[in-house]
Amino acid sequence: MNRSVSMHPKLLSQMNERAVLRVLQAHGPSSRAEVTRLAGVTRPTISKAVSSLLKSGLLEEFDAPENSRGRPAKKLRLGGETSQIVGLVIDSPTCRLITSGLDGSMRSTTQREFETPDTYEELLSTIINEISNLSSNTHMRTLGVGVSLPGLFDYREGRSILSPNVPALNDHCLAKDLSSELNLECTVLQESDALCLAERHFGLATDLDDFAMLDTSTGIGLGVLIGGRLLKGSCGLAGEIGHLPMVPDGIKCGCGRSGCLETVASDTALTRLVSQRIGRNLDVNQVVKRVQTNELTVTTELDQVSRQLVFALVTTVNLFNPQTLFVHSRMFDLDESLLDRLIEQTAAMSLDPSFRHCQIRRARGSKLEGAIAGIIEHLTNSRVSTA
Ligand SMILES: [Zn+2]
Repeated sequence: MNRSVSMHPKLLSQMNERAVLRVLQAHGPSSRAEVTRLAGVTRPTISKAVSSLLKSGLLEEFDAPENSRGRPAKKLRLGGETSQIVGLVIDSPTCRLITSGLDGSMRSTTQREFETPDTYEELLSTIINEISNLSSNTHMRTLGVGVSLPGLFDYREGRSILSPNVPALNDHCLAKDLSSELNLECTVLQESDALCLAERHFGLATDLDDFAMLDTSTGIGLGVLIGGRLLKGSCGLAGEIGHLPMVPDGIKCGCGRSGCLETVASDTALTRLVSQRIGRNLDVNQVVKRVQTNELTVTTELDQVSRQLVFALVTTVNLFNPQTLFVHSRMFDLDESLLDRLIEQTAAMSLDPSFRHCQIRRARGSKLEGAIAGIIEHLTNSRVSTA
C-alpha cells in the first residue's frame, strides 16, 4: 500500500510529460499557454513537466515572432537544435546510420554507410566509433539510438536468435551492449516492424491501424499491425514468412534449410539470378542502375521472382485480412508495371472477400526511418503497444 502511494507522484509526472510531448508532436511548436490549453491540465503542472523535459533535452524553448504584434514570444518545440537521436540499420552487405531531431526531421548530411563486419565485436566497435564521431561532429547532445535489425529477434530478451543474412548478430543483445557502451537509451526493432513504424510515422499509413508490411529486400519478412498494435507472437518471432519451404531441394538458405521463400522471391534472389546469367556479381543498386540506363534487361528474372512473390502476397491477404498490404522492394524500380501485375495475380489467387477490401501498395518508408521512429516512440513513451 505504502509502495503504491510513493510511486504515484512519479507516474503522474510521467503522464504529464507524455501529455506535453503528444501536444507538440500533434501541433508542432507551441507556447506554454497553448500547451496548457491543449493538454487540458493546470499551468503549474505544465510548468513542472516542461522544466523536466527541457532538462532532459527532449524539449527546447526558443524565441519566435508573435503573429499579431510581431513581438518575440517564447515557444516550445521537440529537441532538434541542441539534441539529436540516431537511427541505425543493420543489414547485409552494408549498415547505415543517420541523425534526426526528436520531431523526425532527418539530417541527410549526417548519413553514414559502412560494410557490415563479419564478427560481432567488430560490428559493435564500428557502430560505437560511428556514433561517437557523429556526436562530436555535430556538437549535439545525443538522446538515444534506434536500431533496425534483420533476422529472428526475441523481444522478451532483446536477443538476436537467428540472423540468416547477418549471422554475426546471433545470440547477441545489441541494444543492451550499445546502451552500456555509449551510456545512451537504445531500442531495437526487427526490420519488418521498423518498416511498419516508418510507414506509420513518415509514409502512407499515418491514419491506418490495420495493415501488413511485406519486406522482400535482403530476405523476406512480414510486419503486421492489428488495431494499432504490432503483432509479435509469443516471443517476438511472428512474421517469418520468408522461411516457408517453397522449392524441394532448392538452394541453401541462411536459416540452414533449403528452398525457403526468400531464396526465390526477394531482391537478393533476383540479383543472384541476374548475376549468374551475366557472370558477374552485382548488388541490387547496381542492377537497378543498369536497368534504368538500358545497359541491362532483367525481364525473365523479374517474371520468375515475381511469380513466387505472389505466393507471399496471397498468403498475407488470406491470413491477416489487412486494410492495406504494403510491399517494400527495389523490384518496383525495375518495371513500373510490376505493381499492377502483382495486384492482378494476387486477385486471381487470393480469397475474393479478403482481397476485395485490401489495397496493395508500394511502401514509401525506409528501415532508416523505422529506426528513427522506434527511438522517438521509445523516448517519448508513446510506443505502439506490443501484442
Ligand atoms: Zn530459410
